Amino acid sequence: MNVSSHTALPDTAQSGSAKILDGALAAKAVNQELAQKIATYISSGKRKPALAVVLVGENPASEVYVKNKILTCKELGIESHLKRFSKDASKEEIIAGLKELNDDATIDGILLQLPLPGQLPTNEILDSIAPDKDVDGLHPYNLGLLFSGVPGLQPCTPKGIIVLLQYYQIPIKGKNVVVIGRSNLVGKPVAGLLLQQDATVTICHSRTENLAGICKQADILVVAAGKQEMVGKDWVKPGACVVDVGIHRLKESTSQPDGKAKSKIVGDVCFDEVKSIAGHITPVPGGVGKMTVAMLMVNTIFAYEQHIGIQTSS
Ligand code: NAD
Repeated sequence: MNVSSHTALPDTAQSGSAKILDGALAAKAVNQELAQKIATYISSGKRKPALAVVLVGENPASEVYVKNKILTCKELGIESHLKRFSKDASKEEIIAGLKELNDDATIDGILLQLPLPGQLPTNEILDSIAPDKDVDGLHPYNLGLLFSGVPGLQPCTPKGIIVLLQYYQIPIKGKNVVVIGRSNLVGKPVAGLLLQQDATVTICHSRTENLAGICKQADILVVAAGKQEMVGKDWVKPGACVVDVGIHRLKESTSQPDGKAKSKIVGDVCFDEVKSIAGHITPVPGGVGKMTVAMLMVNTIFAYEQHIGIQTSS
């Protein structure tokens, strides 16, 4: 998927001096392309693609994410099935449910919404999803393909970051890229994908010395530390491209007329400060998060194409 190759370069809204990398706009372009592809398959007599979403417990943020994913499926012409487990469900019950979905030939993708309730072994449960249906790209088999440079199901947030940079035609080849964070979900896979795009990649983490100094060398800075507004303007090289992966929901003290507390979402980057020095910056919300959902749809269609016998290169 390379939306920029056949999409005119969008106007990047100015904000301070930095140009905004609008994830909603890029995700819309990706989704439109997918919707057309799906419509063509259906009109040629193929079955509908289908995604199963598995939700354990009642985490309010997860409920919102799942709702958005199901809504996007509907807009694109992908069937969706929500399978719920109670917060007290055992590992065995969830794995049995996932195995049923693995064996169901009408299901193309299985998404296990994270985080799982604390007592459950996340990796062991994720590993029970069949690799060909692992649309989150987190199974060791798919992570192995990613680091081998072989097309496959790649984690949605890292893949979304690459597609967003491509959409805005941000040069990656030969650039000095610094990634803060080394999780399996974001940091490591995004570093692997950037390496495949011929970037020179440095991965930083909680034990890195001289973090601000290393970040200041970056042409592209990807921040996935999960630390609210950690990166200020002193960490950023003038003109750099800053990609903020963090999501932090803040409850504001001022209550609304309906009595509910207002919530604000911020990232790992001090947006107002950094936008005055960066060349490009992703907003939170409206940046990487939008791309994550779009890439889930891309992966579902990649899995569907493999299942119906159409060869693609991811
Ligand atoms: P994680 O907690 O698993 O990993 C955080 C990483 O950051 C770790 O590798 C840690 O070493 C590093 N780190 C922590 N504190 C640090 C510090 N002070 N200095 C340097 N490195 C530090 O988190 P994750 O799952 O990778 O997610 C990171 C953030 O991205 C979170 O805020 C999460 O909510 C968000 N996220 C957003 C999306 C999206 O779609 N936008 C998707 C996934 C995660």
